[in-house]
Amino acid sequence: MPNTIINKVTNRIDSYRQDVIDMQRQITAIPALSPVNGGLGESKKAAKIQEILKSLNHDSIKNIIAPDERLENNGRPNIIFRWKGKSSEKTIWIMAHMDIVPPGDLADWDTDPYTVIEKDGKLYGRGTEDNQQAIISAILAIKGLQDEGLLPAYDVALAFVADEETGSEYGIKHIIKEFPNMFTSNDLIYIPDAGDPDGVLIEVAEKSILWIKTTIKGRPTHGSTPECGANAHKAGAHLIVKMDELYQIFDKNDPLYNPPISTFEPTQKEINVLNVNTIPGQDIFYFDCRILPDYSIDTIKDQIRIWANEIEVKFGVKITFSYPQEETAPPATPADTPAANALKLAIKEVMNKEARTIGIGGGTVAAVFRHNGLPAVCWCTLDDTLHAPNEYSVIANAINDAKVFAHIFMQENDE
Ligand SMILES: [Zn+2]
Repeated sequence: MPNTIINKVTNRIDSYRQDVIDMQRQITAIPALSPVNGGLGESKKAAKIQEILKSLNHDSIKNIIAPDERLENNGRPNIIFRWKGKSSEKTIWIMAHMDIVPPGDLADWDTDPYTVIEKDGKLYGRGTEDNQQAIISAILAIKGLQDEGLLPAYDVALAFVADEETGSEYGIKHIIKEFPNMFTSNDLIYIPDAGDPDGVLIEVAEKSILWIKTTIKGRPTHGSTPECGANAHKAGAHLIVKMDELYQIFDKNDPLYNPPISTFEPTQKEINVLNVNTIPGQDIFYFDCRILPDYSIDTIKDQIRIWANEIEVKFGVKITFSYPQEETAPPATPADTPAANALKLAIKEVMNKEARTIGIGGGTVAAVFRHNGLPAVCWCTLDDTLHAPNEYSVIANAINDAKVFAHIFMQENDE
């Protein structure tokens, strides 16, 4: 693609600073919280976003409603926007979510979370970074081409979805279930919902997640007469030390991931006794394990059970395990998938930076695509203030990401 054309588009997008501010103001003012978080869903916010989308040239704007019996209104909206390119051989998708997490304690905020305040090139407000920056950069990428009278090489589509923060059942999972052919493995699928301040990390893979709740039942007794009881806490402590050997047994190293190894960490510890001179009859602790996809979760569970059996005999206790979260990692998106390659080229030409593919600790919405054989990649430029008080979005990041997406839309465009 001739440089002059891409320069025209990126220069044009540079002039959209006020559009970023206006859109952030308008949509931040409409909270979109899931019923689980005490909210009324995304309908009002979706209506506003749809109004903005209608101002763009488009071939269709469709609203897929996922029925949610907890809500009196129409359920949970998912907007699909389509704009045809020169070829319909594949579709370039950008997916972003409309829902937000609650602001938390308002005392921790310097400003009202639903009133956008601009300061030092940053826009403060709940949802500005997660995930409105993505919604806005996607819209402005399209606007950039349209204002220059250009068509994308391939069809461009936006999926602005509900319910990402609380499980995606009413969002992307609903869409893929109801419309299994909407996305194809030939499409380029971008999810601008994970990133770094330099905008050079492209997430293509994740680890499996296993949370382990360990309950040890012993027999309580006075602190001075351990022989009359069974110390559940002591047995638990021995088991925790044993479980640290998971690092040696499952020790595969894969430089794609950061950190490159599986991790097995003791985290939460429930209160056992309230006084020093009682030997605890029960002890409960948790592990958070992030496991390279090379290992099956069941092998880990089997290994822990072997150690638990030994400890049960040695300390006269009973050990049970439950798993509050268990998520087998989908197959990774190949690092050289066309979506990642197009993105690397765009980052190189727009930002003059070398991007690289990475794997992360797990639990991203991209897993929903990957489990369905769809090669999704996560990327955007983020300061990672999401879910925290005083969340903000850097205006330049929204502009920058819009240019990168515009570049991807223009690639293989030979005019
Ligand atoms: Zn998000």
